[in-house]
Amino acid sequence: MKMQECLFCKIVKDEIPATKVYEDEEILAFKDINPAAPIHILVIPKKHITSLAYLKEDDEEIIGKIYRVINKIATDEGFKEKGYRVIVNCGEDGGQEVMHLHFHLLAGKKLGEKIVA
Ligand code: 5GP
Ligand code: ZN
Repeated sequence: MKMQECLFCKIVKDEIPATKVYEDEEILAFKDINPAAPIHILVIPKKHITSLAYLKEDDEEIIGKIYRVINKIATDEGFKEKGYRVIVNCGEDGGQEVMHLHFHLLAGKKLGEKIVA
């Protein structure tokens, strides 16, 4: 897919509206349009990375920063202590529909079935 056609690149460029909750030079966080929990935020690198499967060595730093942003949002929005869940779908079998790396941040209720553990 060409980057010009990527939905989340369009959100980064303000060509499609989104309810932003955090933004810096490299990272954007916005509310999911179809929330699966009372709080459902998508955290993305502004730079187009297709998925976890396409991470390059240069991308290691941005992944760490994304987790720090998630920590900050949880603190600022007041659900750090109650807890939350972070999910990254990767590729077809992983259920990824938008091919621009994104971290789902879910909170605001006791979340349902755990797939792991
Ligand atoms: P995936 O299935 O790729 O892991 O997650 C894609 C997510 O993007 C879904 O939870 C979906 O609701 C969300 N989404 C799809 N289109 C839009 C949009 O135009 N705006 C926003 N804010 N979220 C979107
Ligand atoms: Zn993109």
